[in-house]
Amino acid sequence: MIFALHSVVDNDTLHPDHTLSCTAGRLEWALQWLRDEGLDFISMDEAVGRLSEDNPNPFACFTFDDGYADNLTRALPIMERFGAPFTVYVTSGMITREIDGWWLGLAALLRSRDRVELSGPRLSFECSDLASKKLAFKTIESMVHNDFSMLPHLREVIAQSTIDCRALVDREALTEDELRRLSRHPLVTIGGHTTTHRNLALASASTVHGEMAENRRFLQDLTGQPVTHFAYPFGHQRACGEREARICRDVGFRTAVTTRTGALFAEHAHDLHALPRLHLACDDTASTLRCKVDGVYRAIHSRFGDPVSRM
Ligand SMILES: [Zn+2]
Repeated sequence: MIFALHSVVDNDTLHPDHTLSCTAGRLEWALQWLRDEGLDFISMDEAVGRLSEDNPNPFACFTFDDGYADNLTRALPIMERFGAPFTVYVTSGMITREIDGWWLGLAALLRSRDRVELSGPRLSFECSDLASKKLAFKTIESMVHNDFSMLPHLREVIAQSTIDCRALVDREALTEDELRRLSRHPLVTIGGHTTTHRNLALASASTVHGEMAENRRFLQDLTGQPVTHFAYPFGHQRACGEREARICRDVGFRTAVTTRTGALFAEHAHDLHALPRLHLACDDTASTLRCKVDGVYRAIHSRFGDPVSRM
């Protein structure tokens, strides 16, 4: 199975964006739990080999999306302690600071307010304590993921505040130098994650091609290493499908991961550009992790359909 993470934080008291963050302590605990379960920790390259081998040992890959500086400062020391390889999928705009970091702005907005109102769709969210801030983040985030035309309304309310998304990106994202340092570490693989982190399913085929190819070139030039693995931004059904998988293969990526829920099976050896993942976040417990590893989440998501996730 492939675990999907984003940012690794010190503690979860001030992080309404809990779906995108995992505390260092929780990550360490999860690695120990998975190791005790007997899983091998392997890289994405090794996973490709394992899918077509007869090796019965279950394995876990770890992936971190977007390009957060804390992947170097907080995640790496923990991954080193477990000898766990991991892939960091980097959006060029995180490094150049040109990305639209609306989710960072949303988290900052919820952190600083007791109520947030989106004037366009006339929606109001009460967020006076951490639980309601987390709920508001999750609700607004999934509203955007469902309908990206919500974004201008969110940008508007952020623009009316004193929150500077660009400054937040600058604080949270890897610098060029940090990315180079990370890429040289023997446990680390750098993967592609587009230039601007847009919803590829809503873009033209030539834009999708450009988003993937230019990001790949950018990362290869910066790190001096081949970049052969990719993660679709957002990764759900409304953000990537068979067309994006085809273009990804044409651009030259060996594998691509989605955020569709599921474990890896031998069938995925023939479907390397639609690999499912399992989220690992602040709110995971032994019970949720057990259900994820055992396929319960996949069963519920697929309404007890095909255990093998596809595009
Ligand atoms: Zn992402």
